[in-house]
Amino acid sequence: MYINGHILDTVTIINQLYHRYEIYSETKFSNKFIKHSQIKELLINLQSTGIFEVSEIGKSIQEREIYCIKIGKGETKVLLWSQMHGDEPTATMSLFDLLNFFIAKDNYDLFRKELFDNLTLYIVPMLNPDGAEVFTRENAINIDLNRDYIRAVSPESKILKQLQKEIKPQFGFNLHDQDSYYSPGNSYKSTAISFLAPPQDYTNEITPVRENAIRVISGIINILYDFIPGHIARYKDDHEPRSFGDNFILNGTSSILIESGYWESDDNKFFIRKLNFIALISALRIIATGEYKLYEDKTYFDTPVNVESFFDLLIKDVTVIKDTKSYQVDIGIIRKREFDLYSDNYIIKSFIEEVGDLSFSNAHEVFSGNGLVLIDGNLAINSDAKLKLKDQDEIIYCFDNGTLIIR
Ligand SMILES: [Zn+2]
Repeated sequence: MYINGHILDTVTIINQLYHRYEIYSETKFSNKFIKHSQIKELLINLQSTGIFEVSEIGKSIQEREIYCIKIGKGETKVLLWSQMHGDEPTATMSLFDLLNFFIAKDNYDLFRKELFDNLTLYIVPMLNPDGAEVFTRENAINIDLNRDYIRAVSPESKILKQLQKEIKPQFGFNLHDQDSYYSPGNSYKSTAISFLAPPQDYTNEITPVRENAIRVISGIINILYDFIPGHIARYKDDHEPRSFGDNFILNGTSSILIESGYWESDDNKFFIRKLNFIALISALRIIATGEYKLYEDKTYFDTPVNVESFFDLLIKDVTVIKDTKSYQVDIGIIRKREFDLYSDNYIIKSFIEEVGDLSFSNAHEVFSGNGLVLIDGNLAINSDAKLKLKDQDEIIYCFDNGTLIIR
């Protein structure tokens, strides 16, 4: 392709976009807790550009509109959907960054033309708006949409299932967030992003449809590697017969799962959001040019699988007192952010995941527990202990019956 008279290969163009990303980044998202009302407003603005076809394709259980944005006139159809789990918003933000790139006035008109001459994109941001509203994985009747493909009890699942049947896309992008405790293999680096070309059944066979997904992922990994070496993983490939990705592969769509992971000091996942933008735009380029066929399965299979190796918080050398005797232990804590209906705000809840010798474990934050005493499940802090926690009102749920607010 040509920009200013120069031919740009995919790696060069993606490198440029990596450094220009802030220009396209949607500024209306000030944190990761995005709501349906925000995307609705953005879509009204985008529709007024005349570049996209924005249509309402149905409503959620609580009557929130679900939209599909269509762009391009190419033969190869690509369906992208995000946030079927309401508390996994990172890729929704990336999709709006991508839409901003599509309408930008800059030197990349030829690149966009190449994409839209070859591809027709169908983009469904925030498939689970009711879950997003209260930051839960499930929808308003507590159904995990990604376990609802076969029965399609939820309207949100019906919409996506129907869309795939109507469009019959060659490629599908299933966009999620994963927990913060994964590493690629036993590397003790955080997984920033992970990928999966899911199997269509328990045989785990590589069918031609799945192989195309594998090759696209190999291409993305090849391009992303230089930005985040050692932070890319493969998602585990256990077959889940009720999930969308596995069934889409079975029904002819090369489905690619992208899981947004963890990056240090990136609470709102804005860096991960940028990586998603780069991953998606790389994928679209190599699909549009057919370049993906040149990438080998080996890159995908050589990428280490996610291993659970991080706690969010590791408190070392805590004294446990039980029946007047004392013991030295380490405590590994996992944090979960939940929407609290009473305070109408998000709170962090922390759970003690493991107690004992955690000297082989890693954590995103490590503290000395010198001066901390665990008594009958309650974590007490004496005056010498300095424990800096992320939020002032962090609640630690202890493994016994005790609950203590650490101040
Ligand atoms: Zn998910």
